[in-house]
Amino acid sequence: MRSFTTFELQYAHRFYGFQGEAQYLHGHTGVLTLEVEDSVNEGVNMVFPCNEIKKTAWEVLQNFDHALILREDDPILPAICKVYEEQGIKDGTPTNRQKGPAFQTELATAYPDCRLVVTKETMTVEGMIRIVHDLLKDKLNIVKITFTSGVNGATEEYAPGKETDRCPLCGVRLDENGVCPKCGYRK
Ligand SMILES: [Zn+2]
Ligand SMILES: [Zn+2]
Repeated sequence: MRSFTTFELQYAHRFYGFQGEAQYLHGHTGVLTLEVEDSVNEGVNMVFPCNEIKKTAWEVLQNFDHALILREDDPILPAICKVYEEQGIKDGTPTNRQKGPAFQTELATAYPDCRLVVTKETMTVEGMIRIVHDLLKDKLNIVKITFTSGVNGATEEYAPGKETDRCPLCGVRLDENGVCPKCGYRK
């Protein structure tokens, strides 16, 4: 069976070098839906507790929320950094609290202190799906990701990975030692 959960991401970006209005800086509310597959956990009666999917994914995804997402070769990037630097907010500010851990993959690098994500390719809806799958594929048994932003949408399906041992008390995936990271249950 599948469990799914949805996230809203407010972000700004532009398509550098693209012929059209999208080459100007603009913003979106993106809606990301993650579908996770596994057997229904005996006793808990859930595939994966939805709030746990949300928690696991949001750790990473909050880096894209209220963020500026730019391609690495976009000349607007050093200009933005210069302004943030001069204003003293490039390395963070006490009011910038909603931050996930920084990450760096082949496709994207997150700078949570200045709410910036730098991408290898232009951040389209298709590009976002590839970035998110790459970030979360080892944490969740993802079978489908859908992302819509304005009038654009894309979806991708993945073959389910192997089923994992989950806690019979709370449904969370057990760690490599067979221990529940949430309630401490031992297999
Ligand atoms: Zn756009
Ligand atoms: Zn547990």
